[in-house]
Amino acid sequence: MSRKDYLKDAKPGTKVINIGIDTDRAHGAVMPPIYLSSNYSFAGFGQKRGYDYARSGNPTRDIIADVIADLEGGAGAVMTASGLAALDLLWQDLPNKRVIVPHDCYGGTQRLLNARRRQGLIEVVYVDQGDDAAMESALSQPAGLLLLETPSNPLMRVIDLEKLIALGHAAGAKVAVDNTFLSPALQNPIAFGADFVIHSTTKYINGHSDVIGGALVCTTAEDVTTYRWWANCLGSTPGAFDSYMTLRGVRTLLVRVKQQQESAQAIAEFLDAHPAVSRVFYPGLPSHPQHALAKRQQKGFGAMMSFELSGGLEAVKRVLEVVDLFSLAESLGGVESLIVHPGSMTHAAMSPEAQATAGITEGLLRLSIGLEDPTDLIAALDRALQVA
Ligand code: PLP
Repeated sequence: MSRKDYLKDAKPGTKVINIGIDTDRAHGAVMPPIYLSSNYSFAGFGQKRGYDYARSGNPTRDIIADVIADLEGGAGAVMTASGLAALDLLWQDLPNKRVIVPHDCYGGTQRLLNARRRQGLIEVVYVDQGDDAAMESALSQPAGLLLLETPSNPLMRVIDLEKLIALGHAAGAKVAVDNTFLSPALQNPIAFGADFVIHSTTKYINGHSDVIGGALVCTTAEDVTTYRWWANCLGSTPGAFDSYMTLRGVRTLLVRVKQQQESAQAIAEFLDAHPAVSRVFYPGLPSHPQHALAKRQQKGFGAMMSFELSGGLEAVKRVLEVVDLFSLAESLGGVESLIVHPGSMTHAAMSPEAQATAGITEGLLRLSIGLEDPTDLIAALDRALQVA
């Protein structure tokens, strides 16, 4: 049986390792080589080979696109130079300019949406996607695009994908889900009817905090063609080296996430029982308001969480002065554990009122759990919380 045939029915863990392996016809390299060339020769007059110019197509980029599309169950993926570049493709060609987005979506997404709105490319309607009545009201008028993000950042609110995707379709909108927080290892929005899945591959997919990248996964081959055209037109495609690094990273996505979320569950339970902590936001805790929904909709609870210190901002400052093992840094999804104060870091661009509406308090801290031994991570938090 050819590799293509036996991979068709293979499990995701097998496919993520095998796509692109042993495909080099020149030397039989097991790992697909990196193609750095910016241009490709024609075989003769009018005889273009598979590739001509690396902005429009590159063999290394095509392999990582195939892996991500396969993991998400899409027809194909358009690779981009960042997660925001992937999002920016979505509204280039909308028949209806009305775009519905979560009021607490990633801050960079909001900045981009607002800039495109100022240019007249789109109309933006921000809605609390956890508020059914508000969503139904926003989608009672026709829309071009509905963007969803679940779990939300930083409070890990989970929304019902199947229900909201159906609502979006009824309003005539195409539906895109930003799946960065869970990665395709734990959630596959296309299975619930999504038209597009967005990834900041910077996060779990690459997983080693050394590449900025993005992907737009499309359900139909027609959309893959459309958005590859736009990525080439705008020049938002990634270079070969970043594509190669991301391909190397994604091979271990499933095992990384499995370990990271196992550690996250233990850490969430530790924090939940700690006297200095007033609340823990992690869908894996039975006390989480959408625990049952997360259990049904996701393949796991993920490795992101946030928690509130009873001592507020002063306690946050003391804890961040002494905490070790966790780097005080933005981003997420890497092999290394991170701690963030959303109020002054990731969500600093939001006004104090907007932060309060979104539930981001001064005492809130967010964790991205890495691959260190969980007992060491718990010990590090325990040491830090002594000064809280
Ligand atoms: N979407 C989410 C949920 C994110 O967290 C981020 C970045 O933090 C982005 C999109 C943007 O991705 P990038 O930084 O790769 O442009």
